[in-house]
Amino acid sequence: MSLFVQILTVLDTETRPVFEDVPLETYTPIDLSADNSELDGIQISDPEICQRYIDEVLERSASKVAYGGYLETRNLYRQSPNFDLDSAPDRDVHLGMDFWAPEGTLVRTPLGGKVHSFGNNTTKGDYGPTIILMHELQGFVFYTLYGHLSVESLDGIFEGKPYHEGSILGSLGATEINVNYAPHLHFQIILNIGEYVGDYPGVCSAANLEWYKANCPDPNLVLNF
Ligand SMILES: [Zn+2]
Repeated sequence: MSLFVQILTVLDTETRPVFEDVPLETYTPIDLSADNSELDGIQISDPEICQRYIDEVLERSASKVAYGGYLETRNLYRQSPNFDLDSAPDRDVHLGMDFWAPEGTLVRTPLGGKVHSFGNNTTKGDYGPTIILMHELQGFVFYTLYGHLSVESLDGIFEGKPYHEGSILGSLGATEINVNYAPHLHFQIILNIGEYVGDYPGVCSAANLEWYKANCPDPNLVLNF
């Protein structure tokens, strides 16, 4: 058991929702990996086409939120210049957990903490408005990242701003703001954040996966979905 997992044992194992006013029984898993044959021939990097597939999954299970994606290898990033420019063009392994829901859905903090940093990462294929919270559990410091928020989510924010578990952090951004995805929250745990401010890689290459996997553990360790 890693140190982080040991630290988390001080938390209860109840599910920690990421959205306000959305019943937990209306969340359903979604597979957006390249292994999902339902996505064969679908241009999933097109936000409208992606949304259509999400809506299909939600309809099938009479749900409101589709979630998942930790360590999924995805074709979702194939069209983004942000990724093509990267020295490792195969950066397609997803390091967070995504929660696909309509724009404007209110995002709540699953854990108490304070603002480490924030920013609007406006390059196509990036996060758009982003908030990173710092948490401390029994002297152990770690971070959670909230990506693809609305611009309004950054109103009145400042470094060190405290949040209780369950406070409203902001809301989901529209496709034009988030930048070019169907509306969703990207939630990621980060142990060592290095020099990053308001941003942190949410996707890595297979070659760097072992390192990133250790630094960005499964979000479900906190959320318990
Ligand atoms: Zn994501």
